[in-house]
Amino acid sequence: MVTKLEQLYEGKAKKIFKTDEQSIYWVVYKDDATAFDGKKKGTIKGKGYYNNQISAHFFKYLEDKCQVPTHYVETVSETEMLVKAVEIIPIEVIARNIAAGSLAKRIGVAEGTKLKKPVLEFCYKSDELGDPMINDYHIAALELASEEELAEIKRLAWLVNEKLSAYVANFNLTLVDFKLEFGRFRGQVILADEISPDTCRFWDSTTQEKLDKDRFRRDLGQVEEAYQEVLRRIRG
Ligand code: UDP
Repeated sequence: MVTKLEQLYEGKAKKIFKTDEQSIYWVVYKDDATAFDGKKKGTIKGKGYYNNQISAHFFKYLEDKCQVPTHYVETVSETEMLVKAVEIIPIEVIARNIAAGSLAKRIGVAEGTKLKKPVLEFCYKSDELGDPMINDYHIAALELASEEELAEIKRLAWLVNEKLSAYVANFNLTLVDFKLEFGRFRGQVILADEISPDTCRFWDSTTQEKLDKDRFRRDLGQVEEAYQEVLRRIRG
């Protein structure tokens, strides 16, 4: 077992600590919730627990069954996991199957409209700039990732979309859209960050009920219950 050392970073939803093992970080998932570039703040009771467990479950599935390399190492407590110490590539990768949120607004279609083909978007990870949308040319111009890395990011993002959509469908969940982050580890691009109702839109496939952070963003109530329900379903 590794030992938790000093804090490296505190984000909106997680804290990252060094460990006595150079290649391992210790992640603590928090109950804090933010939305709209941090303008809306709150806490969701139990979110740290649900997101840690849900992320671990999806990372294990992707790594073991889908040949997606991930940063996940092991779960060490209800709200904590060990991950590989990656260098985060400062690009948010968003995949979408159904128009929702900012896309529905941007292209003027009703939320819930199924896209004829899934869409991949990139945002530059920068709090000061409010994560602006960028494309392949900006990524090259800013040297955020090499051409090879970007090709690998796209391949993995499409693979995650295919595998995760099919997987959650077993639990009567629709994967509407989600955000991924990738990191560099020993010369390889691997999936990092988290996969949870904070970063994915999950709708009940029968009722279209929202089971994700939109319940917090839009004050829909039953926020904790939604996160709990996603974990309950995937655990089977
Ligand atoms: N997303 C995220 N972090 C962000 C922005 C988006 O995890 O900083 C996720 C969000 O939860 C949704 C998807 O990416 O599953 C697409 O989000 P969108 O662009 O519609 O923005 P939002 O409506 O969430 O502001």
